[in-house]
Amino acid sequence: MSALALEEVQRADPRDMRVAVLRQVVPQTPDTSTYWFALRRAADRAAFRFQPGQFNMLYVFGQGEVPISISSDPAHTGRLGHTIRSTGRVTEVFRSMRKGDEIGLRGPFGRPWPVGRATGGDLLIVAGGLGLAPVKSAINEAMRSREAFRRIVVLVGARGPEHMLFRRELEAWMHLMRHRGIEMGLTVDVGDDAWPYNVGVVTTLFDGAQLDPVATTAFVCGPETMMRFAAEDLVERGLAPDRLWVSLERNMQCAVRLCGHCQLGPKFVCADGPVFRWNEVAGLLEVAEL
Ligand SMILES: Cc1cc2nc3c(=O)[nH]c(=O)nc-3n(C[C@H](O)[C@H](O)[C@H](O)COP(=O)(O)OP(=O)(O)OC[C@H]3O[C@@H](n4cnc5c(N)ncnc54)[C@H](O)[C@@H]3O)c2cc1C
Repeated sequence: MSALALEEVQRADPRDMRVAVLRQVVPQTPDTSTYWFALRRAADRAAFRFQPGQFNMLYVFGQGEVPISISSDPAHTGRLGHTIRSTGRVTEVFRSMRKGDEIGLRGPFGRPWPVGRATGGDLLIVAGGLGLAPVKSAINEAMRSREAFRRIVVLVGARGPEHMLFRRELEAWMHLMRHRGIEMGLTVDVGDDAWPYNVGVVTTLFDGAQLDPVATTAFVCGPETMMRFAAEDLVERGLAPDRLWVSLERNMQCAVRLCGHCQLGPKFVCADGPVFRWNEVAGLLEVAEL
């Protein structure tokens, strides 16, 4: 069954930690790189499957474990890309890792982007900053099934040109996408003389994209403020809130609805999410204490 048709979420056994070996590091921005890991055992590599938007728990031996989205293509699981921003104790350690270093990996976990629900209509993907990492696998998945959608529109924003993740890949996609009927817009909050695309927040791309809200399913991923503005703008344009999906981040530890660290009101971000319908979480995000 193709992952596109697979709505059933595959849940990993949370006790099953596998060893993954670092194969390559690809710098993205000054504080973010993509770390390509391969599971050490051939049987684990052959068995591993994930869906767009799912995440792994990466354990740096002796340091701690962090949830990180899988940013690579679900069709190729021999190597798994994790795009990691160094923000604290554990993520900082990745910076000093070298090819051949090993970590523990549990996963995949979480509810994926429902790519299959957009078929027959238009798929709109809106990403801001590091938010491109959790949604990039959905772009791969949709591109592979181009004929299943009427339109695929990908809009990506970043603070500045140096903060745009996967820039070379996005620009290569732009050319390829024109041939394959996939539309892409890139924007930065503040440009420089060499920046050839739009300047402004990502919602400034909406008018040019000539969206058809009634036929559109949207995936929005980025900082919470950006997701709120983008989601509210899209709903105002007529997109139904139950066809609008966002991905949330909360501090988490078990990844399987046990410890409660990631609770957002009645929701466990690790297992009920991280991908939620906008109308499931919009009200909860308004409560500052949650
Ligand atoms: C489902 C999911 C997917 C994620 N995917 C990615 C990804 O693809 N790439 C990536 O770089 N990061 C991702 N994150 C965020 C990443 O897990 C945190 O940055 C990491 O856990 C921080 O750990 P640390 O030990 O380095 O930092 P710490 O020293 O623990 O904390 C540093 C700072 O980050 C804050 N923080 C800690 N954990 C989180 C969290 N989960 N979300 C938001 N803020 C946090 C702390 O409050 C503190 O201010 C994801 C988080 C979730 C829940």
